[in-house]
Amino acid sequence: MIDTTVAGSLPKPAWLAETGKLWPQWLPAGEALAQAKRDATLLWLKLQEDAGLTVVSDGEMSRQHFVHGFLERVAGIDFAHKVEMGIRNDRYKAMVPQVVAPLALAGRVHETEARLVRAHTKRRVKFTLPGPMTIVDTVADRHYGDRVQMAFAFAELLNQEARALEADGVDIVQFDEPAFNVYMDDAADWGVRALERAAQGLRCTTAVHICYGYGIQANVDWKKTLGDEWRQYERVFPALAKSSIDQVSLECIHSHVPPDLMVLLEGKDVLVGVIDVASDAVETPEEVARTIETAARFVPRPRLVACTNCGMAPMRREVAEAKLRALVAGAALAG
Ligand code: ZN
Repeated sequence: MIDTTVAGSLPKPAWLAETGKLWPQWLPAGEALAQAKRDATLLWLKLQEDAGLTVVSDGEMSRQHFVHGFLERVAGIDFAHKVEMGIRNDRYKAMVPQVVAPLALAGRVHETEARLVRAHTKRRVKFTLPGPMTIVDTVADRHYGDRVQMAFAFAELLNQEARALEADGVDIVQFDEPAFNVYMDDAADWGVRALERAAQGLRCTTAVHICYGYGIQANVDWKKTLGDEWRQYERVFPALAKSSIDQVSLECIHSHVPPDLMVLLEGKDVLVGVIDVASDAVETPEEVARTIETAARFVPRPRLVACTNCGMAPMRREVAEAKLRALVAGAALAG
């Protein structure tokens, strides 16, 4: 059976944070919050194992948002004075912190949850970090004045944390780069180079996740403007195929991505999205298996991994659990 995993985030339990939100408020505080984050991490680790996933993650239980969770540990960023900024080419507005001085890591970012997961599972562990280009697109710059320079500054910090995660026993470090699908020319020009800088020197497996965003309304509306064929990947995949990154995670089911674009990733493992995160309708195993079979026409089977289209953070918990079970059942059916 092919490997199975999630793109990244899973829904936070109602006792940890507000549910159904992309930027939820934490409910406990202080040591109670730290304990609740650890408990939620162990809960989802168990649920992923029970669902049968072969590669498990921390479900991003310890970070409020997939980008800002990293930024909270970076010196040179002012979190006290957030500003509203249009992100992903103004697709939606978000309150973002500001870069006000040279960047440096204030310490480890994800040591607690990485070691916790490693200590409690024998399965392979994947850990996610935001990619440099997506970070640059989710923070206000009041210091560098140059997106590329700032991206490489972040890439250096990401590399420090990624190497430490590898030392913690993580098997796969994945960088999330939804911005690659928005700024395709920049992605092919310097985004992939910044990504390689972030992954430099890693001996563990490296991955990049490129998607059309979480299942929030702004993204659903944006997708309606993209036409019948979404060819964004076509402009980024050739640069990724030439890169040092081992795996590429992409959106597939219920998208308008032509599946033949996957041939552009020759030589890479392909994490094909077989679970839609923008719909509460739980896929049938047959539907999941059909998506895998479609991908298998363009990617050698040993290089295929069944995955979700994107993170599941804003989803209802019971829906996410059912979708993970469908993912594994579908992968077993596809053989
Ligand atoms: Zn995604």
